Amino acid sequence: MSDQPSHPQSFWLADLGPLEARPALESDETVDVAIIGAGYTGLWTAYYLSVHSPETKVAILESQVAGFGASGRNGGWCSPNHEGMQGWLGGPKHDRAIALQHAMFDAIDEIGRVAGAEAIDCDYVKSGLLQVATSDAERARAQPILAQLHAHGFKEDDYRWLDTAACDEHVRIASARGGMHSPHGATVQPAKLARGLARAVEGRGVTVYENSAARSVAAGEVTTDRGRLRARVVLRCTEGYTPLLPGLKRKILPMHPVMVATAPLPDAAWAEIGAADRILFGDLHRNLTWAQRTADGRIAIGKGGSYFYGSKVREDFAPDSPMFAPAEQVLRDLFPSLGDIEITHRWGGPIGIARDMTPFVRFDASSGMGAAGGYVGSGVTTSNLAGRTLADLILGRDTERLTYPWVQHRSPAWEPEPLRWLGARTVWGMAVAADRAEERGRAGGLSGAIFRSVSGH
Ligand SMILES: Cc1cc2nc3c(=O)[nH]c(=O)nc-3n(C[C@H](O)[C@H](O)[C@H](O)COP(=O)(O)OP(=O)(O)OC[C@H]3O[C@@H](n4cnc5c(N)ncnc54)[C@H](O)[C@@H]3O)c2cc1C
Repeated sequence: MSDQPSHPQSFWLADLGPLEARPALESDETVDVAIIGAGYTGLWTAYYLSVHSPETKVAILESQVAGFGASGRNGGWCSPNHEGMQGWLGGPKHDRAIALQHAMFDAIDEIGRVAGAEAIDCDYVKSGLLQVATSDAERARAQPILAQLHAHGFKEDDYRWLDTAACDEHVRIASARGGMHSPHGATVQPAKLARGLARAVEGRGVTVYENSAARSVAAGEVTTDRGRLRARVVLRCTEGYTPLLPGLKRKILPMHPVMVATAPLPDAAWAEIGAADRILFGDLHRNLTWAQRTADGRIAIGKGGSYFYGSKVREDFAPDSPMFAPAEQVLRDLFPSLGDIEITHRWGGPIGIARDMTPFVRFDASSGMGAAGGYVGSGVTTSNLAGRTLADLILGRDTERLTYPWVQHRSPAWEPEPLRWLGARTVWGMAVAADRAEERGRAGGLSGAIFRSVSGH
């Protein structure tokens, strides 16, 4: 059936071959800033600390290897989406939210700039983003969203509607009925970005300890099995893994989106599909589809995900798990000509969702404790901005970034179980039901309205 390895590695990590772990923390050490988690958030924060204050001593503790988490497993959609945006537009924080959105556009370029400057070969292409409507109802729902973006001052050059023929010039999706296009988007090989960033920060004097799980976290000190890291600043950059840390079970809800990758497609298939510009593509479903043409000519595509009772974080996704069915089905729906193309990799991983679905960057100068995350599955670009903002907060740099509405944002705690499980299942079920209604030619109706009122989408 597939040549997927029996471990839950993403195509991206598998593509890098075996990784040699860096040394673990083996004794007690003292640094200025201790960062827990070597995903994008921790790595970008370390990067900008090292850029703006090379004398600051920074160490990262990673429980596995750099890029093991969502940063080594995502769809490589370096997109302009900031998941807090809907809650701020039109409200008292409107102007700062608009500024934040422009900073997101810039962050896509910043990632490309740093990748170039640090010789991080991560297949970065500033390719833009195309999300097609696959039903008339979906197209109808998208129009007011686009009109609202334009009413908020974004230009056709930021977001525009393309008719089906214009969509086809980028990527030919069987059921497309036009789509929302933005030039603000880049495709990356996510694991190469994470691993390259780890190398870049090391080159700038940051110490990355791997196989060094933080067991307890307090102001001024992080404890691992074999050593303690003392630091005046301690940052939690653990996103979907946050509930595993003591006392944080209700802080972040770990959802597990899943992806599959095909075998490399023959040239004839690509001649039919297109995507020669490597544009990020997907649909406008509430239960979103996200995909890219990989540098070696596969389709990597994601759809669906699960929450597991008790905020369990799972890594063990059997290749025949029904969790992968939606992603495999949508691949066939979008590109029927591919027939039963071989799927070579199937994987998933945890993302972090705060109770109000709003990402955050927080730092308390008095305790020295900080954190960032809750990106709701849009963390590739957002984590770059989060890292820059955390570095600003720690170094006392007075930048415009500190005025954005997600800075020092505090979300309420999630409900205890079983309410958390029931709530997550219900909201997710509403999203899927509203999408199905639209596919059958009806508007999303009550399920769509409930999902929108909870999620802002
Ligand atoms: C399948 C999938 C597809 C996605 N697709 C996209 C996409 O296309 N575009 C997009 O923008 N976003 C996407 N995302 C989300 C995006 O990948 C994340 O938002 C982003 O990578 C979060 O980065 P992070 O550094 O905050 O967290 P992570 O990358 O999860 O890093 C956290 C790190 O902390 C480590 N850790 C955990 N506990 C401890 C501990 N106790 N001690 C030490 N270390 C610890 C973990 O091992 C991990 O390496 C996707 C996510 C998944 C799972």
